[in-house]
Formats: sequence, structure tokens, C-alpha cells
Amino acid sequence: MNLLPGMAELLPQVSAWRRDLHTHPELGFQETRTSALVCRELESMGLELMTDFCEAKTAVIGLLRTGREGPVVALRADMDALPMQDEKEVSYRSQNPGVCHACGHDAHTAALLGVARWFSEHREGLRGTLKFVFQPAEEGPAPGGAKLIVESGALDDVDYMVGAHQASAAGAGYIMTKSGVAAASGDFFDIYLSGKGTHGASPDWGNDLIVTASQLVGALQTIVSRRLDPLQPAVVSVCSLQAGEPGAKNVLPAKARLSGTVRAFDEGVRDKIFALMEQMVQNTCALNGCTGVLDRQPMFPSLSNDPKITALVSAAAAEVVGQDHLLLIDQPSTGSEDFAWYTQKIPSCFYMFGAAPTEGPVYGGHHPKFDLDEGALPVTMSVMARAAMTLLEQPVRKKEMR
Ligand SMILES: [Zn+2]
Ligand SMILES: [Zn+2]
Repeated sequence: MNLLPGMAELLPQVSAWRRDLHTHPELGFQETRTSALVCRELESMGLELMTDFCEAKTAVIGLLRTGREGPVVALRADMDALPMQDEKEVSYRSQNPGVCHACGHDAHTAALLGVARWFSEHREGLRGTLKFVFQPAEEGPAPGGAKLIVESGALDDVDYMVGAHQASAAGAGYIMTKSGVAAASGDFFDIYLSGKGTHGASPDWGNDLIVTASQLVGALQTIVSRRLDPLQPAVVSVCSLQAGEPGAKNVLPAKARLSGTVRAFDEGVRDKIFALMEQMVQNTCALNGCTGVLDRQPMFPSLSNDPKITALVSAAAAEVVGQDHLLLIDQPSTGSEDFAWYTQKIPSCFYMFGAAPTEGPVYGGHHPKFDLDEGALPVTMSVMARAAMTLLEQPVRKKEMR
């Protein structure tokens, strides 16, 4: 392990920030305490602050200007927690009932503050500008924080961008990168069926929305299996189906609702899936004499890591963890991540750092007992700082709109 000089010494401070945030988690767009802590710390490091620059009021950007010509490099951390109960038995357990940092965004925020502190003390010889982006609402609610930050124009001058996420699949000291498309697009949907309710003994006097909904669930499963190019991966999942009163045995309902998610890796496939869904809803309802409305809620596009930037970040990671601890991933994830919005505008790399606890069972992200190994923090801080220094040496990119 080849941590940057001074990173290991920052761990007590970074751990204290992380545990403070872990004890006081906040949901998306409500990260006021977190945002205040970030502002206070960035200010104490002598960084310039950008606040209240977009619809996501809790977003903060810290600016470090070296005073020398060069590119603008943005580093991003997400700050939001999840609406779930913390079931861990640790001193830094959440004190906010029903809210928990079960995805590690507390660690991302603390680590990025650590990187900002490190650069504030190691700025000599650097050129260009660093933007430390503290983003609200990665987990939603829609449209999430990244889209709003991009739309605000606050990153219009950014040449290159890097983000990172903890992973329970590996221990501290491992870094995982994936060039090209790394995470799926994510969309949600609701399908509302309505018709004429009727007696269970006289289905011919009305519409049977339960049969309609069942046919529709089956039809939707033929999109991926029969209608798309077999070499184009996608997922269509109906995750809830509500119709009728629980236990009802003699009443056919007048309303039904199906809800779920669609994942894809190609924008054309993504749109084709929704066009086919619309046809299936309309035709299945016509067959059964009822009506249906498909409501699509687009969430994130697919996340595409720029091959050149990913190669540079991977090389920086190999300097820190060694080539044998750098895992080059060849399959994208069907998960989605709103860092995708940045990758659409800015050549970027989003990498994963191993952070599985060394003792006891490993619970993955979004589990009520999720925790991570803080020993992973100086590793990702070193990787991010090294990557940023490499990117600051790259040429300034020509941008369409400046
Ligand atoms: Zn998450
Ligand atoms: Zn996350």
C-alpha cells in the first residue's frame, strides 16, 4: 500500500466526521446539518464556498484555485441517507429514527472533506482548479441532486470529474474500475388500470382487472425475452401489484395498479422498452374492455465512464494499491447511480473502493446492519487525490458552451 504522505494521519479526523454524520443522517434534499458541517470545515481549510446555487438547496461546492492556468477538476461525494432503521449496535448508531447511512454516503462525504483538507495543505506546484462537489439526494427523491447540479451550470467549466462509492464486495485496499458503460439507466413506472367493478359471480357485468393485470405482467416479461435484441441486456421488473381488498372473495375491483422498474444500458433500448410497454398496456386493456395509463418516471441515464479518464484514474489507483489490488471489471452493474448525469456532460470516472468490514458478517449497502471498514478511507482519499493531480496535468478541454 502506497498511501499519499499525510493521508493516514488524516484518518482520526475523517473517522470523526464520518461518525458524526452517521449519528445524524438526513434524507435527500434535507441534508441541512450535513451541509452546514461541510461548509464549516471547507471554510476552516480556507476554501472558497459555493452555496445556494441550485434548486437543491443543500448542495455545496468547495473551490481550491491554485492561481495557475490549468483544467478544472471536480471530485464528488453524495451526502444523503436512506429512509430505514439503523439496526447496528455501535456507538455511532443513527440517532434519527427511521433514517440511516446504510449506503456509506457519510463515508464518501468525510473522505472528500479529507481530500479537500489534504489539498489545502499540499497545493504547491499544482495548476488549475479543484471543485469539491457535495451533492444532495443521490438516493432520490426524483430527480435527485446530480441532475439539478448539472442544470444549475455550476459545473459548466469542469474539464474532468471523478466520483467513488464504497463496495462490500471487497475489503479495504481494493479498487474497482470499469471503462465505458458501468451502471444501468433506471426508470420507475406505474400502470393504472380502471374499469367497471362487479360481483365475483357475474364477471360479465363488468371488467376483470385482476385477469387484465395478470396478462399484463406476463406480456411485460416478453419485452426482454422476445422483443429486444438478445445481445442487449435489460431488466423489466413489476415489483408491486395491487388490486381488490385483501381477502375479498366476492368483489372484482374497479381499479388496479402495477409498479416497477426498468434498467437498460443503451438509450435506444431504454426508449424502446417504454414504447413496447405502452402498446402492451393499451392492447391488453382493449382486449379486456378496460382502460390503462402508463406513467413513466425517468430517473437516471446509464453511467458511462470515459475510457481515457478511467485509464488515468486506474493508473493512479494502481500507484496506491498496486496492480494486483486494482480490479478491472468487465460487466456493468444493473444498479443505477445518479453520477450518470455528470458522465453525460463531462469526461468522468466513477470507481468503487472495497470497504467490507474485517470482522463479523458482511452486510451490503441498504441492509439495516450495513457498516464499513474505515481503513478503506485513506485508500480512496489517496486514489482520489492522485487521480485529481493527474487530471490537473491534462489539457483544458474544449467545451461547447462556456
Ligand atoms: Zn444506495
Ligand atoms: Zn450509494
